[in-house]
Amino acid sequence: MLVKGVVFYLDSDLPFEARSLLEDFRLAVNNAVRAGLQARVTSRNALCRLAYKDFRQEHPRMYAQHLVSAFEVAGSVLKNHCRRARKGVTSRIPFTKRLMMKAENQAYKLDRRSGIIDLPIRAGCHVELRLIVSQYHRKYLDDMTLSLGSLTVLPDRVIVAFRKDAPKRYAPDSVISLDTNERSLDGVFVEGDVAKAIKAEFPEVAIIQQRHHDRRRMLQKKKAHDRRISSRLCKREGAREHHRIDYRLHQVANSVLKFAEEKKSAIVLEDLRGMRPKRNKELNRRLSMWPRRKLHQIIEYKAQWRGIPVVKVDPRYSSRTCPICGRIQGSRMGAEFKCECGWRLDRHINASINLLQTAISKGMAGGLWFNPGAFQHDVMMILYEPAMAARSEPNGTSGIVGVT
Ligand SMILES: [Zn+2]
Repeated sequence: MLVKGVVFYLDSDLPFEARSLLEDFRLAVNNAVRAGLQARVTSRNALCRLAYKDFRQEHPRMYAQHLVSAFEVAGSVLKNHCRRARKGVTSRIPFTKRLMMKAENQAYKLDRRSGIIDLPIRAGCHVELRLIVSQYHRKYLDDMTLSLGSLTVLPDRVIVAFRKDAPKRYAPDSVISLDTNERSLDGVFVEGDVAKAIKAEFPEVAIIQQRHHDRRRMLQKKKAHDRRISSRLCKREGAREHHRIDYRLHQVANSVLKFAEEKKSAIVLEDLRGMRPKRNKELNRRLSMWPRRKLHQIIEYKAQWRGIPVVKVDPRYSSRTCPICGRIQGSRMGAEFKCECGWRLDRHINASINLLQTAISKGMAGGLWFNPGAFQHDVMMILYEPAMAARSEPNGTSGIVGVT
């Protein structure tokens, strides 16, 4: 079962009753967390047995289903706490400050046509939440193959979980192999006897990382006298950085998947799990792996949702091997891969050819095959470049750029 959370903003302020419900919910979560810690239990049912009666006495009218899902939230808070404690990370007794509540799908009603949520508060008291519905939201609301999952209510927005069974992956007619780099995805697209170079560029991601890193460093220096303020501002910088990078990675993933879907391609990616950044500290940060891992996550998730086959292969030696004669080179310097046998190609595209050959040799590319000799050196298809984005990164180095 695949789940996708879709954020809806509210048309007006949260009604008073709903706000008090959020407060009660938070109270129930925090009470259950404390009770669970004392009794050393983390499961929803155990917490329910433990805390239900007491809380019921204090809040006799709260809708029972909400109370049960408060215990569920408390359970996951406790599990996180235990995990951190086991790892030896010092972790304070968890306390939920944020106003939120979660309702299971039996505990609310969403009219998918009008976008109105009917949320029961207690017996005889319901509130209506009007959602702001855009075209993007319509896609999910109108698709009746999607069922509704849980609802998360926050003071200014709600998150509706849409669920569906994973669609069957199609049998591919072609294949896209991609080498993931700091600033781009580079690869080959193979259809029948023809192989072409493809590229999706995201140079801004590295620029954004650099800029936010510099800003954090500056904040730390400027606010060195107050660690509380410094850490708060740095946290905010970090959240902004994540937002902005996320937005761009989603766009890159969307254009790759759109192309794959049109051509009925399988996608070959390198398995980044074993990759560790270099030891040098400066280089370490610049080559931080998370945008690349995140991009893979997004591509894999979206591909699953749309039934596009994705194959991951071990990238070892992929940047140093010659796909024609199989020689492995000692170093991998230079933008171009040159082999003694006469093969020359862009280093990144060469790597993607090796990834593809690994996938084919392991039978993971669905019976497709590829002859490196058929590679058309003079053709380059651009799947994505920053100019295609709704907004691009300004060139100036100063000034705060808004959150995207
Ligand atoms: Zn060679």
